[in-house]
Amino acid sequence: MAELVFFTGTMDCGKSTLALQMDHNHAARGRAGLIFSKHDRAGQAMLSSRLGLAREGIEVTDDLDFWDLVTEQATNGRRVDYLICDEAQFYTPDQVEQLARLVDEMGLDIFAFGITADFRAQLFPGSRRLIELADRTEVLQVEALCWCGKTATHNARVVDGVMVVEGDQIVVGDVGDGEDEDEAAGSDGQVGTPVVEYEVLCRRHYMRRMTSHAALAASPTPEVLPFDLDLCPVPQR
Ligand SMILES: [Zn+2]
Repeated sequence: MAELVFFTGTMDCGKSTLALQMDHNHAARGRAGLIFSKHDRAGQAMLSSRLGLAREGIEVTDDLDFWDLVTEQATNGRRVDYLICDEAQFYTPDQVEQLARLVDEMGLDIFAFGITADFRAQLFPGSRRLIELADRTEVLQVEALCWCGKTATHNARVVDGVMVVEGDQIVVGDVGDGEDEDEAAGSDGQVGTPVVEYEVLCRRHYMRRMTSHAALAASPTPEVLPFDLDLCPVPQR
């Protein structure tokens, strides 16, 4: 039975790796699939994972119509059994409806991967429609962790080292791994170009806007992070 499945989790929880694995598994069984991505970190039309795997795909522009694309393939004699849809939070609600229609009327299996909420802790329109329409929504088991060690549930945007909760919904940046942050803040700083990064946090630290950087700055010594929540007041909005 064909189905539309939405695999979700925070940034950095291995979604793209699973997407590539899913493609591999189905292709190995002789099924024909297409891979889609949007604003992927490797640049246009690549599905890449943090583990270094990559596979070419089709870039999803706002005017791409999944229904038209797949039916055209079928008309040209090219079989399509499944779609891998990465970064699906960036798709339009209309595109998500096209995906549901392909499952129902063409019998395709559709595996969508994406995060649910943006840096303001509000649902992306594409993710909202996926949650509404998917046969199943699966929360991935590979859990990303907040700097405090708790399961990370929120995606924070950090602009020039400061967590922000307002701004455009889509700004593609890096998920800081803590390794090149010193370089980024150092000599090669380009004047006028804000550095946008993302960091996953637990809800407590998201609400307190306490990123790993802020935690370090607030700690009495570099070895002791402020695990005591009283040291991290909830900011006034
Ligand atoms: Zn935390």
